[in-house]
Amino acid sequence: MAKAFDKIIKGGQVVTADKTQVADIGIQGEKIVKIAKNIPVDGAEIIDAKGKFVLPGMIDVHVHLQLPFCGTVSSDDFDSGTRAAARGGVTTVIDYATQDKEKGMYAGFERRMDEARDKVCVDYGLHGIVIKWSDQAASEVKKMIDEGVPTYKMFMIYEKEGWQSDDAAMYAALEYTKDYGAKILVHAESERVLNVFIERYVKQLDKVGAYGHALSRPNFVEAEAIQRAITWTEASKGTLYIVHMSTGEGADIVKAAQERGVHVYAETCPQYLVLNDDVFKDKEKGHWYATCPQIKKKKDNDRLWEGLKNGEVSTVATDTCTFTTKQKAMWGGDFRRIPFGLPGVETMWPSIYSFGVRKKRFSINHAVRLCSTNPAKIMGLAHRKGDIKPGHDADLIVIDPKFHKKIDYKELDTNCDWSPFQGVDMYGFPDVTLCRGSVVVRDNKFVGRKGYGRFIPRKPGGKL
Ligand SMILES: [Zn+2]
Repeated sequence: MAKAFDKIIKGGQVVTADKTQVADIGIQGEKIVKIAKNIPVDGAEIIDAKGKFVLPGMIDVHVHLQLPFCGTVSSDDFDSGTRAAARGGVTTVIDYATQDKEKGMYAGFERRMDEARDKVCVDYGLHGIVIKWSDQAASEVKKMIDEGVPTYKMFMIYEKEGWQSDDAAMYAALEYTKDYGAKILVHAESERVLNVFIERYVKQLDKVGAYGHALSRPNFVEAEAIQRAITWTEASKGTLYIVHMSTGEGADIVKAAQERGVHVYAETCPQYLVLNDDVFKDKEKGHWYATCPQIKKKKDNDRLWEGLKNGEVSTVATDTCTFTTKQKAMWGGDFRRIPFGLPGVETMWPSIYSFGVRKKRFSINHAVRLCSTNPAKIMGLAHRKGDIKPGHDADLIVIDPKFHKKIDYKELDTNCDWSPFQGVDMYGFPDVTLCRGSVVVRDNKFVGRKGYGRFIPRKPGGKL
């Protein structure tokens, strides 16, 4: 007779967004099939979780693996980036498929699928990136929604790179996608005004160094763009998701819009919570921390933590876009030429657990909500991920609340020779990570397999 369970996670404190209970979790194949006190062993493999927390796998909905950007390619590919994910407790990542300038949206999607398929170690999804809205793009978007891509990113900056969407394109895309329950994701920074400041501080490069990156992007550069994107969303009745929100002003604007009933969600990232723009003042290393938008100030950290707690900021993701010190050195003293981006997927959950939960800003349940349940709901994965219940994928992590380690890039799986959190003591790294029932991390070491991860089609209409 077949065993009732392949694996049982025994005796842990099972934590979801809504509750904590001591229970066993029975797993059959890729799925959770039972949650109960004292499930009989009956030949199943036992994962002992006594004294530990068992959480749903985290979902990082914002990564850029092997992305050609700033004259180079981000150094974490679909292999190293998803190993790093697993070790940090992330069992699903969502990357991006950029519209091909000649061949269109769908060709970009197919190419990205080919790049990912044989390398990914955890499950993944893709957002589309729209660089030119047209009737053709719209019809391809419709086809992609049907194939599991219900979210489309547009950039309000990067005009020179040819990626920028103007207001007309944003409005049209919001209006079009609303009929299908899809969402528009925006990188909200106000390019024309930003350029005024970049030109101003480039004239003072000797004096400002890497800090010129911060000086050239005052908070209103983001705030104005968020306000404008919300205006188009409110008028079109579409749905907006603001990626990597970095300012306190942004949180205020989003809160006010949500109170008026506008369909807008906001995401922030650990670097905007844990670090502040003093990092750019370091003469040797300051430029390593450059990302767009840049890390802001302590008061922004505080406001974003508050937003996560109160709900106007719905998700934590990382915007992982890893560059090594050698790649960062391409800046040659000019802050405009820094490859913009940071490693992050491996430290996402540990940083939120360490600085959110352990610092008593919110409960562990709420941290699970921010890093797993809300991302699953908003991004259309809630039918199988982001929660612990029978029928869901067995994406689970086991953490020992006593285990902590000082972050050392040499020990991490991310393909990077530095870490923005080097030397920082963090809790929350998983002893065990399961992705669809398979153990991919044991004793906080990666034991999974390249190519194991699967593309997970997402559903439109996701909401909180
Ligand atoms: Zn990004």
